[in-house]
Parts: sequence; structure tokens; C-alpha cells
Amino acid sequence: MDISVIIPLFNEEDSLTELFQWIRRVMEEHRFTYEVIFVNDGSTDQSWDRIVQLNAQYPEQVRGIKFRRNYGKSPALYHGFDAAKGDVVITMDADLQDSPDEIPELYHMIQKEDYDLVSGWKKKRYDAKLTKNLPSKLFNATARRITGIKLHDMNCGLKAYHKRVVKNIEVYGEMHRYIPYLAKNAGFTHIGEKVVQHRKRKYGETKFGMNRFVNGYLDLLSLWFLNRFGKKPMHFFGLIGSLMFIIGFVAIVVVGASKLFALSQGVPAPLVTSLPAFYLSIASMIMGTLLFLTGFLGELIVRNAPERNNYYVETQL
Ligand code: UDP
Ligand code: MG
Repeated sequence: MDISVIIPLFNEEDSLTELFQWIRRVMEEHRFTYEVIFVNDGSTDQSWDRIVQLNAQYPEQVRGIKFRRNYGKSPALYHGFDAAKGDVVITMDADLQDSPDEIPELYHMIQKEDYDLVSGWKKKRYDAKLTKNLPSKLFNATARRITGIKLHDMNCGLKAYHKRVVKNIEVYGEMHRYIPYLAKNAGFTHIGEKVVQHRKRKYGETKFGMNRFVNGYLDLLSLWFLNRFGKKPMHFFGLIGSLMFIIGFVAIVVVGASKLFALSQGVPAPLVTSLPAFYLSIASMIMGTLLFLTGFLGELIVRNAPERNNYYVETQL
């Protein structure tokens, strides 16, 4: 099969049929063999009924996955990726904001130009709210710096993947915003970008509010940390823990030694417990011990993590 189109959706009853017919038209024009996987993320409207209808009409082309409740876009993509059978996997929002006309070009970039992943770039956006465009620019600038991936629009819903990528990354939580970063960390570094058409939301309303920027930022930090130290926590915690312990230890030796020196000379010296340096050095030693312990516990956890040796072997002779 050439293409799997994965469509996560939450309460998008009005657009599903129109979207599928549009995809079908494009696929038939270009003679692609394809499947469309609708992942119904706990919709409370008629979305699932529409999917069942489409499946009855086009059993070869339409597949459906239904969640019992709303889990989020990332779990929806995860299950879609798991089910996909096509050589190229394309994700697309259900709200008709992404255009199926982009599919052929995306397919060729993956198959002919050998990209692992091609992300859409909504160069001209048609989102209703101003609160979306400006924060989004900021978000992308931060993401570019931290991830080192030069994408203008990391969170674009329209993306194309080589099959090997979706079978070797795991989207979870709200990490759908950073799939290119997940891919890069898994070793799929040939990541491209294509300017895509963006349209106004035709039906329904957006499912994401402002809190996505706060959460998105925290997720970015987690990913950065995981990538850097996730498999070797001691390299982070052990280092600063040891440093703090040593600083505290040296300081307390100095405090104690100067007290003893004063005593031996018969000079009056204050109680060590009246010196701030005493408390600072003790605090530093305790914090150092805790950090070291955190790193060590982290190492024990990593040792037991089932994915500790999940590396993607590209070829073997
Ligand atoms: N979506 C989903 N689960 C959710 C929220 C959103 O499957 O919990 C789907 C939604 O139906 C749409 C896509 O994710 O197909 C993108 O959502 P939306 O259009 O609301 O985001 P925006 O375009 O406003 O960023
Ligand atoms: Mg949308």
C-alpha cells in the first residue's frame, strides 16, 4: 500500500465525509493505493456514526479506531501509527484546515527525495484568533533553538513520514507537538519542510486553548532533558551532586580548622553554630548527597527500563 492517512478527531462530525471524499479524489487522480484511518478520540457527537457509514461504503479504504473517552491528540496518533500499513504515512487534522491536495507532493518528497519526515509549514495562517499566531511564532523560535531542527512550524498537523519513522517512535502525553524532535532523537535526521495551504476552520471550533503554550514549554524541557540525560541520569545529577558535596565539605573543614586554630592560639573565637558559613556548608553537603542519590536512583530505574536498549538498527550485513 502506498499511503496511510491518519486523521485524529474529536467532535468533527460535519467535516468527515467532505474530507474523505476530497482525499479519495486526490488519491484516485494519482492512482495511489491508500487507506484512511480515522481515530475517534472520544467524540460526543455523531463523528463515529459518520466513520461507520464511510467504512460501510468504502470498506477497503476507510478504517476506524474509537476511544472510549477523550485521551488527546498524541494517543490518537500513537494508535494510528501503530495501525498504519502504508509505505508513507500522512497525518492530517480533521477540520479541513489542511488540504489533501498536498498529499502527492508530500508522498514524492518521502519516496523520491528520501526524507524521513516532511513537516507542513502554514506560511499563511488562517486561524480565527490573533492569540494563536503570535505565541505560535515565539513557540517555534524556542523549539528551533532547543531542538536544533530548523522548522518554521513544528506543530503543523499535516506531516508525512516514512513508515520506518512512525514504527520506531512513540508519541505519548502531549508530545505530538514535537514529533520531529522525537524522530531526530531516534536518529531520523533527514527532516524537511513544505509550505502548505492552510484554510479557515469550516465547521466546529478549535480544541486547544492558551494553556498549550505553558504545557508545550514544559514538554519541550522534558524532551530536551530526556534526550540529553534520560539514559544516563548520573551524568547530570552525579556531577552537580558531587560538586556541591565537595564544596560543602571543604567549607566545613575550613570552618572547623579555623576554630581549632583559634583555640590552639588561645584567641577567643565565636561558636561555629553562630557562623552562616557553617549552615551553608551543611546545606550544600546535604543537597549534594540528595542530588547524587537522585542520579543513582535514576540509573537504577534506567537499568530496568524495557526501552533501555531500544535503538533503531538501520541495516545489518
Ligand atoms: N483533536 C483530537 N483530540 C483532542 C483535540 C483535538 O483528536 O483532544 C484533533 C481535532 O479534532 C483536529 C486536530 O486534533 O482534527 C487538531 O485540532 P484543532 O483543529 O482543534 O487544533 P488547531 O488547528 O486549532 O491547532
Ligand atoms: Mg485546526
